[in-house]
Amino acid sequence: MDKSNRSLIQSGVLWAAVAVGVVLLVLAAVRWRENGPGGLVWLAAFVAMFVIRLPYSVRNRGNVIVEAHKDAREVILFIAMFGSMMILPLAHLATGCFAFADYALPGGAVVLGAALQVPFVALFWLSHAHLGRNWSPGLEMRQEHGLVTHGIYGRIRHPMYAAIWLSALAQPLLIHNWIAGFLVFPACAAMWIIRVPREEAMLRRRFVDAYDDYCRTSGRLLPRFGASRAGGKAAGRP
Ligand code: SAH
Repeated sequence: MDKSNRSLIQSGVLWAAVAVGVVLLVLAAVRWRENGPGGLVWLAAFVAMFVIRLPYSVRNRGNVIVEAHKDAREVILFIAMFGSMMILPLAHLATGCFAFADYALPGGAVVLGAALQVPFVALFWLSHAHLGRNWSPGLEMRQEHGLVTHGIYGRIRHPMYAAIWLSALAQPLLIHNWIAGFLVFPACAAMWIIRVPREEAMLRRRFVDAYDDYCRTSGRLLPRFGASRAGGKAAGRP
């Protein structure tokens, strides 16, 4: 199959998935009474996440990829994260299909979950804005990949994963269900344990001393303040 046919099929699959997502979203919004305020907050954050990511997904498809790690571990992680963070909660809010696995939490849980969505959306947006064309959903390096050390990346090496952690903490507080709400938490832990060392090793191979220097002055998950880098800004901007 030639490249243009493959990309046509990929676009078709992508837009079909978007169409299914929109239908589920509408059904979930219609069931707002059954889903309660937690469900509505989760839906609002889901839409914000989608709106933030979409332009980068479209634009970065034009990147020339020179290194990609699409092995079994990455595929399993992708399915686990995509399923637990999007498909399962959306399907449950749209249809109530996992009602047998509901649990109960006090009312304050929804308030806490809603509060966590504020730093989640802010970090998710900032990390996309500052990573720009260097963002990819998987472990990839593009042809003109630059090491981003400015903006939020000046303080934290993994602000996007920090955002995803916040969302994974919020989801079980907003959707009181072991399958649609809670499962994202172990999936996120697996992503953190498996993905982060591989991603850092890939960046270290490419940027060598600049990456070590960057690691000394930034926090992995929590922000680091006060340390200054030897060479100022490291290689490249998005
Ligand atoms: N771990 C980061 C980025 C997630 S997106 C975060 O949590 O914010 C994954 C891709 O981002 C990786 O494939 C890698 O190529 C790229 N990446 C991660 N950190 C980067 C950096 N500081 N500069 C440039 N690219 C980076």
